[in-house]
Amino acid sequence: MIEVRNLVKKYGNHLAVDHLDFTIEAGRIYGFLGPNGAGKSTTMNIMTGYLGATEGEVLIDGHDILKEPEEAKKRIGYLPELPPLYMDMTVREYLQFAAELKGIPRQKRQEAITEVEKMVKIKDVERRLIKNLSKGYRQRVGLAQAVLGFPEIIILDEPSVGLDPKQIIEIRELIRQLAKRHTVILSSHILAEVREVCDYILIISKGKLVASDTPENLERMLGDADTIEIEAKAPQALTKEILKTIPGIEQVSVKASGEEGVAAAVIKEKKGEDVRESIFRTFAEKDVPLLALQTRHVSLEDVFMQLTQNESLPEALRRKDEREKVKLPAEEESTADALKEEEAAEEEKVPAAAEAVWNSADGEGDEKNAGDL
Ligand code: ADP
Ligand code: MG
Repeated sequence: MIEVRNLVKKYGNHLAVDHLDFTIEAGRIYGFLGPNGAGKSTTMNIMTGYLGATEGEVLIDGHDILKEPEEAKKRIGYLPELPPLYMDMTVREYLQFAAELKGIPRQKRQEAITEVEKMVKIKDVERRLIKNLSKGYRQRVGLAQAVLGFPEIIILDEPSVGLDPKQIIEIRELIRQLAKRHTVILSSHILAEVREVCDYILIISKGKLVASDTPENLERMLGDADTIEIEAKAPQALTKEILKTIPGIEQVSVKASGEEGVAAAVIKEKKGEDVRESIFRTFAEKDVPLLALQTRHVSLEDVFMQLTQNESLPEALRRKDEREKVKLPAEEESTADALKEEEAAEEEKVPAAAEAVWNSADGEGDEKNAGDL
């Protein structure tokens, strides 16, 4: 339905959209999720033909948005971040004007306008000037304009920004209703919103697509990266030594627990392993008391934070990426080798650090993880 190929947008030297590639299929609700400045609005403006791209192309049902703008645009209703409302028009006048621009035949206009007014609940303000409306009502007028004529694809840039909680619930309900007949793409910097409304999430960070999947799959994929947190009554070095002897562990970071003589460790298991029992037995064998042991689930929130704050992808995603794109062999390094390498790396990096961190990857994100956990 929509194909975005190799899309690039530069503002001067600033790369706002960095080689985006994705496909939008009919009948789903898509969410562009990313922090402010990620490039969501720029991408939407290009997809809707409001802005030219530096490179790449956008096809709407096979029609190039730049080469066949009329064919492409009539399939799209767009609510930009700042809806182009005319403050001195009444709601009805504005929608009439929008209906003309959209080429809705004269005899069908009144009916079409009344239908969307009812849908977004603005019928009672249709004779008011737009400048006298609250932010929530203005947003609905913008939405009415986007939905007018019921185009196949409805694109909404941060539709709930500036709305109060009740209005947010209403707009979400409306989006779900629209999705029964339309393909909806919305953007948001709020994970909870996208997760609640969307069937499919595209996470954008610094102009790049860093992950795209259903909310469930994103969570499942990273659910593999569940971590185990322990506290042991032992020095950090000993805790680390003991953990090293346990098979099935992929990655460990050890730090002070805050309690004298107690070390805290965050452990990542290899896929499909459950090392909790081994941890318990091994520490018992060494006569080191385990004071705490718990599993921490990696939530979509964690995924989002990691994807958009760190320079690099988290472990689980990166491996998936490598397997799919670079086609690296899927087998992992043996833990022992990985640990040796990592230890060497660690000695170089933080010789005198209070925290001892090792990791089977490159050590990226370690400091963050250690600080977080
Ligand atoms: P988002 O909608 O995800 O918050 P935007 O697409 O608005 O992100 O912006 C992406 C990046 O491009 C930001 O760094 C922003 O400052 C920059 N940018 C957006 N519009 C312009 C513009 N007209 N001129 C220069 N830089 C811009
Ligand atoms: Mg934006």
